[in-house]
Amino acid sequence: MSSDSCIFCKIVNGEIPSKKVFENEMALAFRDINPCAPQHILLIPKIHLQDLNALKDATLAGELLSLVPKIASQEGFSSYRTVINTGAESGQTVFHLHLHIIAGRNLSWPPG
Ligand code: 5GP
Ligand code: ZN
Repeated sequence: MSSDSCIFCKIVNGEIPSKKVFENEMALAFRDINPCAPQHILLIPKIHLQDLNALKDATLAGELLSLVPKIASQEGFSSYRTVINTGAESGQTVFHLHLHIIAGRNLSWPPG
């Protein structure tokens, strides 16, 4: 399942290039084009889901979450932040579910 107008579906399909860091049957991780920290990776399901509210498949949810520490370990992150923006007011700008994995500098909390 993919959405013709979705930029992340185009990345999954190879229509738009990306700097991949991990891929399996269910998920793809690649470097954010506009990183907010020295290290900024996006982890997405290969199927098109608009946001976290659309994630009903517990197997896929578990897979995505369990991939975060694996990718962090692969990339050598000792400390990192994981963010899922849901809805425009939260800051979501791409409406294909994605997990941000951010590292490489001190991050303030709470976020702005
Ligand atoms: P959001 O604001 O929706 O939580 O995050 C979307 C992220 O996708 C942003 O950090 C933005 O820089 C990134 N992004 C948008 N378009 C592209 C693209 O074409 N390629 C890559 N690698 N990242 C993108
Ligand atoms: Zn999509």
